[in-house]
Parts: sequence; C-alpha cells; structure tokens
Amino acid sequence: MPVKLFNTMSRRLEDFKEINPGEVRMYCCGPTVYNYAHIGNLRTFIFEDILHRTLEHAGYNVLHVMNITDVGHLTGDGDDGEDKMSKRAKETGRSVWDIAKFYTDAFFTDEKNLNIVRPNIVCKATDHVQDMIKLIQQLEANGHTYISGGNVYFSIDTIDDYGKLAKLNLHELKEGARIEVDENKRNPKDFVLWFTKSKFDGQAMTWDSPWGVGYPGWHIECSAMSSKYLGDHFDIHCGGIDAIPVHHTNEIAQSEAACGHKPWVNYWCHGEFLLNDKGKMSKSSGEFLTLPVLIEKGYNPLDYRYFCLTGHYRSQLKFSYEALDQARTAREGLFSKVAEFKAAGEASESVGEKAKSYRDKFFNAMENDLKAPQALAAMWGIVRDNQVPSTEKLTVLYEMDEILGLELDKIEPKKIEIVGTPEALELAKKRAEAKKAKDFALADQLRDEILSLGFVVKDTPQGPVLEKV
Ligand code: AMP
Ligand code: ZN
Repeated sequence: MPVKLFNTMSRRLEDFKEINPGEVRMYCCGPTVYNYAHIGNLRTFIFEDILHRTLEHAGYNVLHVMNITDVGHLTGDGDDGEDKMSKRAKETGRSVWDIAKFYTDAFFTDEKNLNIVRPNIVCKATDHVQDMIKLIQQLEANGHTYISGGNVYFSIDTIDDYGKLAKLNLHELKEGARIEVDENKRNPKDFVLWFTKSKFDGQAMTWDSPWGVGYPGWHIECSAMSSKYLGDHFDIHCGGIDAIPVHHTNEIAQSEAACGHKPWVNYWCHGEFLLNDKGKMSKSSGEFLTLPVLIEKGYNPLDYRYFCLTGHYRSQLKFSYEALDQARTAREGLFSKVAEFKAAGEASESVGEKAKSYRDKFFNAMENDLKAPQALAAMWGIVRDNQVPSTEKLTVLYEMDEILGLELDKIEPKKIEIVGTPEALELAKKRAEAKKAKDFALADQLRDEILSLGFVVKDTPQGPVLEKV
C-alpha cells in the first residue's frame, strides 16, 4: 500500500510517489531564531518529524533539509514591519548574531528533548546569501524582477499562476487591498527579493550585492537553500498553514520562475495550529509557552510529544494543562507497562498473528496521512491484550516507537521488590523447579511450607513472587 498524504496543492489525499526510486527529498521551513520556539512551532516540527519517520519506516531513504531563518523575516508577511532579528536586538541591547546563536542553540535543545530526529541538513540563511543573490540574478535574467526605491522586487504579473497554492483570487486581492502598501510595488502582491534602501534603520546584517549593500527577503532564502540541497524539483515541502498564503506562495512563484520546472514541488504538507485560550499561539501576541517552561513545571518533554500525537496534524489542537496532564498520565501508563513487559523477558524475534494485526493497524494508520490518534489506539490495543505474550508486545512496541519516538527502548525493566525471608525464598525456588519438573505434589507441599513461614506464593508474568499473609 502506498503512503497517502494530503496535498495542499490539490486539496486531496494522494498516493505518494517519489521522484527518484526509493528516495524522498523533503524541505521544511525552520524556525526564525529571534526568540524561543513556542510549543505551537514545536507542534509543526513534531509533525514533520513524524512524517520523516513514517517515510523511513515505509522504506524510503529520506533527505530532510531544514533552514534556520536568521535574517530577512519581517514582522509582517507582506514586507511590512521590521526585521524580527533587528527588532529583538534593539529591545535587548544584544547583537543580532548573538541572538541568532542563542535561540538556534535553544531550538536544538528543544529538538533533542522532544526526540525529534535532526534533519539531515540544517542550513542557516546567513550562510547562503550568495546562493540567494545568484537566484535573484537568474530571476532578473528571466525578466521577473524590477528595482524600485532601491529594493529588488519580484513581479507577480510576469507569471500566470501566482497564488495557485492558496487559491488566491488576484482580482479580489487588488480591489480589496486594505493593508498599507509599499508604494514601490507595481502590484500590492509583489514581494521583495533584496532590500537595499530599506525603510529600516540600523540593519546590522548586510551584504554586498549587484544591487548595492543590503539583505535578502525572507522567501528567497527557502527557494535558494532548497534548490541548493534538493535540486530544482523535489518531493515534499512542509510548514505550518500560516505559510500558505504568502511565504509558500512566493517561494513557488520565484522557484518555478527561476528553474522553469513545474511543479517545483510535488507534495505540499501543512500542519494546523496549536491554539490557546485566545486562538493561535503566536510569538507576536507575547503570550506563548515554551518547552523549557513545561519542563520547569515538572513535565517530561515527551509528555508534550505524546500530547501532539493525540491530535491529527491537519486538525487544530487546543493546548491546556488538563489535556497535557492526560497525555502525561497516558505516557506514564505506557512506560510502566513497557517496564513490566521488559521485566518478563526480551523482545521476541518473531510475533504471532494477533500481534501482527495490531502492528498492521498502527502502520496503516500512520501511512494513511499520519493518522496518529488511530495509531495510538492500535498501540494501546496490543498493550492491553492479555492474549499477546509480553515478549511479542515488546517487539511490536519497539517497531511502533520508530515513529512515535517515545524512547521506549530506554525504559528500565520494572524492579521486582523481593519479599520473603531467605528460607522462604529458597523454598519458592525449589517449588518453581518442582513445577517445571511437573512434580505438582511436591510443589503443593512446598507452597504449604512457605505458607507456614507467613508467605503466599503468587505466580506472575515476571515469575513467582512472595507476599506476606
Ligand atoms: P517561525 O519560527 O515563526 O518561522 O515558525 C516556525 C514554524 O512554526 C512555521 O512552520 C510556522 O508555520 C509554524 N507555526 C507558527 N505558529 C504556529 C502555531 N500556533 N501552531 C503550529 N505551528 C505554528
Ligand atoms: Zn520557508
């Protein structure tokens, strides 16, 4: 069965078909490192991690590229507002480079805590400015740009399918353009490729370019870095849904105009928002939660990962501490069961039909557009099924964990508290041997002797244990 993914471009569930046999090339927009990532941002990175792991499990070799936005992302998506990095530098009195380093490291720590597999390539925008300049030159040579007020703009009227991802109605957009429009723009939806005479004073990060000293626009960075590492035509591009109307729309416009390959990307996958009481969690609102805050409150970061798995990535997910507590209880319950299974023995080499059916349910759900809640139900199914031996449960759970990423392999086997005097324990050992030798008369006699010492023998999946009478 092929992996199925919902493609934002077609608004349909599609069978996934890779471009190069056995290989998936995937680009994910990374964090803008002017502040901590909030747990909403992290939901999107967890979704991308789950997608990566699901494709790997399905047998693909995944080449996953993620950028770090450390320049060019303005507070407004329509080229309005200030550069987020510069704004933060002014507010804190620190250098933009300092801020970028600090929050990039903080993001990597979050990734590690959430057991997110590090993308194969993580690339910083500031390390790729020359690639962006080359791409802008290519667009210029193809007649898609103009210079106005000192900035280089992409002219959306030079292509005939601008806005196809977001299904924008350009006619309506022109008439309804309410926002303050940059007067340099020929069309309000044109966007900046390169700022030279910017309206923002004190931009610390600048580079020389054929158009003068300045800095790149936000969208060009993803087009330049993705084509550098993945080529002019690749399989999957991901991000949060807020990237659809502007950022990804503009990436498509410039990449297809530059490379001439249509479609530039075959599958567009977008994660829905994490909400709080007031709606979308966002950094600009100032009210956002970070992973370090949850850790400080005593949560295991994997509680948050588990919480994200309880919702489908294309549905909004409402954060509350009650919901996170439920996720914690479920995760702890799972860990405790796994610890018990481990105490009973090692994972088996092969599994029976019953265990296989849970396994299939789990992976069919994941390969059907990452239906994590259904997959979790299959996981709990095998955990609770008394007819499946615990050694087989472990085998299947470890395989499921290749996608869940809850680090089940690191759980310590449950320690069995030893109750009983040395004499009673010795008799219990003899009784176990008698049972093994099918000498039940002796086994019963030994049980009575143990009872006379004040203990009852209970046979558990972990072996016989003594309890005080
Ligand atoms: P940023 O650091 O702002 O560039 O965002 C990083 C990623 O988080 C992008 O893919 C955004 O689309 C995504 N994102 C932003 N806000 C949320 C939210 N509330 N819930 C889920 N994803 C989000
Ligand atoms: Zn991007």
